[in-house]
Amino acid sequence: MIFNFKTYSPEETEKQAFKLAGYLKQGDLILLNGDLGAGKTCFVKGLVKGIKLKDKVTSPSFVILKEYGEELKVYHFDLYRLQKKEIDEIGVEEYLYGDGVVVIEWGDRLDEKYLRDYLRIEMKRTSNEPEREFSLKYRGKTWEDRIQRWLK
Ligand code: ADP
Ligand code: MG
Repeated sequence: MIFNFKTYSPEETEKQAFKLAGYLKQGDLILLNGDLGAGKTCFVKGLVKGIKLKDKVTSPSFVILKEYGEELKVYHFDLYRLQKKEIDEIGVEEYLYGDGVVVIEWGDRLDEKYLRDYLRIEMKRTSNEPEREFSLKYRGKTWEDRIQRWLK
């Protein structure tokens, strides 16, 4: 399936990312692509805020004791300016599919050989500033369902 959406302000971009955070889990990989100023960092901001909130207090109706402080980790990379060789050197792949969510700006610079499942978000300015166009691609069984719920 093809998924697209637009936002019309940085706040709205953050809000969309914030909502996505609610559907993320350990081991997820999100690749952000798009030119400088497309809004990649803005998206990450919203995402991190959303992930912090995931761990907030809920009523412990079903458990007597609930332990907090185990919010999902987020590893945020920005591969702008890095050569392929340098990317190999920093060892991004060691963080992939591990104990947190990995989100990578300029994610298309990461060699395909490292990729298993991912959500890839292509972000574009349009001629209608401050509009941004988002198109989503993904690989893996769980993304389609999660994207549908996210964008509903
Ligand atoms: P990138 O990381 O892709 O280079 P940033 O998130 O750092 O981009 O910057 C995006 C810039 O575009 C910010 O100055 C932000 O205020 C502006 N902007 C304008 N409209 C939007 C929008 N709809 N979504 C995100 N950012 C927007
Ligand atoms: Mg950036």
